[in-house]
Amino acid sequence: MRTVIVVGASLAGLHAVRELRAQGFDGRLVVIGAEPHMPYDRPPLSKSFLKGPASGPGPKASMADGAIAAPTADVTGPAPTAPTADVTGPPPTADATGPALTLAATGTAPAAATAPGAAATALGADATGTPPTADAVRTPGTPGPSTSTAPASDTTDEPTLALADADELADLDAEWLLGTPASGLDTGSRAVLLADGRAVIGDGVVIATGAAARSLPGPPLAGVHTLRTLDDARALRTALTSGPRRVVVIGGGFIGAETASSCVTLGHDVTVVEAAPLPLVPQLGPDMAVFCADLHRRGGARLLTGTGVAGLRPGLRSATRTASAWTASASTPDGRVAAVELADGRLLPADVVIVGIGAYPNTAWLEHTWLDGGRGELRGGVPCDQGCVTALPEVVAVGDVARVGGVRAEHWTSATEQPRVAVRNLLAARTVETANALPYFWSDQYGSRLQFAGHRPTEATVRVEEGGLAPDDDGFLAVYEYEGRPTAVLAVDRPRAFMRARRELRARLAAAL
Ligand SMILES: Cc1cc2nc3c(=O)[nH]c(=O)nc-3n(C[C@H](O)[C@H](O)[C@H](O)COP(=O)(O)OP(=O)(O)OC[C@H]3O[C@@H](n4cnc5c(N)ncnc54)[C@H](O)[C@@H]3O)c2cc1C
Repeated sequence: MRTVIVVGASLAGLHAVRELRAQGFDGRLVVIGAEPHMPYDRPPLSKSFLKGPASGPGPKASMADGAIAAPTADVTGPAPTAPTADVTGPPPTADATGPALTLAATGTAPAAATAPGAAATALGADATGTPPTADAVRTPGTPGPSTSTAPASDTTDEPTLALADADELADLDAEWLLGTPASGLDTGSRAVLLADGRAVIGDGVVIATGAAARSLPGPPLAGVHTLRTLDDARALRTALTSGPRRVVVIGGGFIGAETASSCVTLGHDVTVVEAAPLPLVPQLGPDMAVFCADLHRRGGARLLTGTGVAGLRPGLRSATRTASAWTASASTPDGRVAAVELADGRLLPADVVIVGIGAYPNTAWLEHTWLDGGRGELRGGVPCDQGCVTALPEVVAVGDVARVGGVRAEHWTSATEQPRVAVRNLLAARTVETANALPYFWSDQYGSRLQFAGHRPTEATVRVEEGGLAPDDDGFLAVYEYEGRPTAVLAVDRPRAFMRARRELRARLAAAL
């Protein structure tokens, strides 16, 4: 194998690059990323980063960008989806609401920008066309010219998000094509097509395109945010730093809960709306979901459950028109969210709305390829075997985008563990090892750390083994059991007990294989 292309320049993509080099691949390595940033860590975006100092109004290049951004001068493909622009201005009054926009979660990814097989110019020595300039493939981690223009006073905590430092990136010796999404995979010519019309030809492909936040349908309104990318987090952080605000978080999942918790810490008036009777039931089961609902209440947020969202209402602006002999006054929507309308008719006044209703795998660029099979199979992630190998042995998938052995996990640890197995199988050109890691995730909410490992069958029962659920119990360790066997553990503020229980569970799993 002479050239491997990693599509997705984030956590799983970086780990794939590391594994390729660690496992002896010394050929050409090209990493394609839709975002303009070098790999950065997402978990802090809803936690410490959101509570940190704002980097000024809206996304912009800063000194700190140098640590995570490597703009590629000659890569001029369409920019990745722009975050919702946040418009500052007087908060709308609760009763100044316009017509409701009807909502239903959208789960379909946007169409691929370029159809596979479209005319493409190839990049690199083993392709025809213009080779990338030194700038386009320069060693990442070295700030480019446009990243060093911010005033010295503009200090942010963004460098702490960087997943790799300049020394490591230099050692990895990869070419980073950032700010240009892949738009197709042409298996015939073994090319990854770029949205700007070019292509990269390789012998192996690692798909690591992750997931994107679901949004609500309807025209965009200022003040409405999702939280998946650094640019999303910058925009939200800016919106949260202009004084106390009425924040409505739609969705009581992990991102919603963490974001709500951060907003409370920042002094905002926070309401979380969850359509189900309790938050986090699919992940933790009803018993532990009751505890999580209490966390919101104890933490200082309002939690409204069992009610969906009917629509978002913009504020109204008065406009005076003069038409020949008469003058009329009319109200028009001002383009900024003013309230969230619930399915039961209640209106929640809102200056900032955070939509946390889940994520969908970034697979649009693979539609109509071999991997899709024409059956829309990619909607649930890229199907692969237990070794992260797709229907094509020279293509593997890792991280949030991969449906490994029928299961797609959106966990940080899966994105860091799968690449080792995936790369081993890619280099062997067949599945020689399977990924059997125990799923693990954590979440920080209202000063508590939740840690979960294992599988939770819907019928599993749960029992608290240590500590208790009451506020003065200082956390607990709970074990889920199914058919008399432990299958998962959950801990709140009990890291030692959790590590021990996780280790035991892992050993039990290994013994059962
Ligand atoms: C706010 C937030 C908080 C989180 N907190 C936790 C936590 O506390 N605990 C936990 O376990 N997990 C957490 N997660 C989940 C964790 O961050 C993810 O599981 C992890 O980022 C997955 O890594 P990935 O590389 O697979 O995907 P991603 O991180 O989504 O990266 C995929 C990359 O591919 C790029 N891409 C997409 N399409 C294309 C294309 N066509 N061409 C090129 N590039 C493309 C994307 O722009 C992105 O940069 C959190 C996630 C978020 C968003």
